[in-house]
Amino acid sequence: MVDRDSDAPDKVREMQSVSKAVNMVGITKERLVSDLRKMGLNRGDHVSIASALSKVGYIAGGPEAFIDAVIEVIGPEGTLMVNTYTAFFQVFQLEAVNNCPPFDPKLTPCVTGVVSETLRKNPQAMRSRHPTSSVAAIGKKASFLTKGHGPYAKARLPYSRLAEIEGKSLFIGLGNNLVALRHEAQFRAGLIDIVHLESCINYLDEDGKTQLFKGADVTACTRALPRLVPVMMQRGMVKEGTIGNARSILVSTKEALDLMTDLLRKDPTQNLCDDIVCIWCRELERKMSLYKNIKNPLLFQKNIILIQLLGLINRHRLRGSRQAARSIFVVMTAYKWMNKYVSVK
Ligand SMILES: [Zn+2]
Repeated sequence: MVDRDSDAPDKVREMQSVSKAVNMVGITKERLVSDLRKMGLNRGDHVSIASALSKVGYIAGGPEAFIDAVIEVIGPEGTLMVNTYTAFFQVFQLEAVNNCPPFDPKLTPCVTGVVSETLRKNPQAMRSRHPTSSVAAIGKKASFLTKGHGPYAKARLPYSRLAEIEGKSLFIGLGNNLVALRHEAQFRAGLIDIVHLESCINYLDEDGKTQLFKGADVTACTRALPRLVPVMMQRGMVKEGTIGNARSILVSTKEALDLMTDLLRKDPTQNLCDDIVCIWCRELERKMSLYKNIKNPLLFQKNIILIQLLGLINRHRLRGSRQAARSIFVVMTAYKWMNKYVSVK
């Protein structure tokens, strides 16, 4: 007769060793293929993917296995596109720009994660030539998506093209941050140009000569934009699921861009973060006179003295004044003190 009590520790140890073995094997390519299909990715799809692969869990075979899984799902008729963004500086940091190697689409590593970096290095992938906002793509429409996306093109041109061909955008482990689409929506809503925040980097042109790139549509504050995703969910435009252990969302690129653009155009206050130091949001609300439209304005959005002071400092910050850059932090500290100890209407 087996003594069940004395047998229990062995069973626990056995289960622990099985669990350990599974963890060591990690998430297989087959599991990823299954998860991607359950998310709604199909054969022939053209898809942009932005991911935090660490949220997926340990993948047997690493990012290469992840990319193989996507290609297996979409097949040779489909296309995979990732952003391969690179470092840049603000216009007043030209000294730093000149100390940084110029962007070379063949060599410059991206800063957008291991999947992007792995696909960029794939000899079959194409990379566009935009100095800050390049993409890499592999598959049937790779040439269409990347062609002409150079220093004079719109920063998110490939995402507009993806929308044209009924593409999809998949976000893995990034919360509700619709990377790249959010900047394209800001651009389409006419917001990016309102605050002229130039991004700079040197790049190698097609003749191998070093040129200076300046782009005013590269960056803008996106911290408030996850709030648009629940609106999309209410309209049934978002497919939620998991890839490995990562919460993931899939949208139609065109539908998402159209709705985000529409929401931002109708109510630009949706774009405002609540950081007093954020030059982009504070200048956007000042230049568009949004103060009366803000539903729950903060003190620096309703106190006329603070509004004037921030406007003055931020205009100088945009011109590259280091004194203004320092003084904004003095204002921030004073603001925190006022909020805590003084009632200011
Ligand atoms: Zn902001």
